[in-house]
Amino acid sequence: AKQRRNTFVFFEAEMTRQSGERLHLVSLLRRAVPRPHETFGVLYQPQVRLEDGVRTGSEALLRWTLPDRGPVPPDLFIPLAEETGLIVPLGEWVLAQACAHGAAWSPGAALSVAVNVSALQFARTDFAATVRCWLERSGLDPARLELELTERVVLDDVGRSAARMAELRALGVRLALDDFGTGYSSLSCLSRLPLDTLKVDRSFVRGVHADAASGAVVRAIVGLARSFGLRTVAEGIETPEEYRALRDLGCETGQGYLLGLPEAPAAGEGAGPSGARG
Ligand code: C2E
Ligand code: CA
Ligand code: CA
Ligand code: CA
Repeated sequence: AKQRRNTFVFFEAEMTRQSGERLHLVSLLRRAVPRPHETFGVLYQPQVRLEDGVRTGSEALLRWTLPDRGPVPPDLFIPLAEETGLIVPLGEWVLAQACAHGAAWSPGAALSVAVNVSALQFARTDFAATVRCWLERSGLDPARLELELTERVVLDDVGRSAARMAELRALGVRLALDDFGTGYSSLSCLSRLPLDTLKVDRSFVRGVHADAASGAVVRAIVGLARSFGLRTVAEGIETPEEYRALRDLGCETGQGYLLGLPEAPAAGEGAGPSGARG
């Protein structure tokens, strides 16, 4: 009994420590977001056509580095930014950066740039206007911008989401469903949403060459994508075996540490501090 109490006291102390840490990070976030260029950055992970290894574009990934403690994991600070609403201005900054960087990449190559959109951004009635604003300011061809939405974002209210997505599609941008297969999408929802791309979650990519169940899931997703006329992107490819298996299963595009780490934009490209408003 004594031991149990000690364990409990330990957990209580641990929880207090963690919530103190959370509050501390939230206050740092509040101070950092209005001056994003000081501590935030955007890295770009290559996306590659599996058939021939040709690069087709990149995904923009947000990074936050604190001077005294180094990089803060995205899986830690992005949920906090979502809970506090700070993801709205922060996500707009990422969008502005990605449009500016994307427009600066050798225009002839027509590389796409994918940007993650959180539920709060997508829910705003002015979201399509915001996207149009940054497309115009950057001069990026809308067809080169792909917005990544998760199932959680779009399946909350499929009717409203479909309308919002149609507004975005009307701008000429492409729409991807991220982390596909991990949520609760139903086939009927998929058919009602104006999508261009399904991103196969990396939990199905891991060991796809060896694990029959993962292989079956990927085959099903690729088949589904084909019947809806969608492109597939497999994420988290780490080994040549996974690459070959995905290619042979008919997956078109992929990204992952095997194909390229998230990298800084080349020097001189894109947005300086004046690139984002507010
Ligand atoms: P995500 O959208 O699924 O992004 C892919 C994640 O997989 C990235 O993690 C990327 O660094 C990681 N990754 C890429 N290749 C590999 C691989 O081969 N193996 C493994 N194990 N991981 C790989 P990251 O950068 O830590 O981002 C985590 C999540 O944070 C993202 O997941 C996305 O949900 C969110 N996120 C990142 N940037 C933004 C942003 O600008 N806005 C919003 N709303 N969310 C963002
Ligand atoms: Ca993503
Ligand atoms: Ca993903
Ligand atoms: Ca993910």
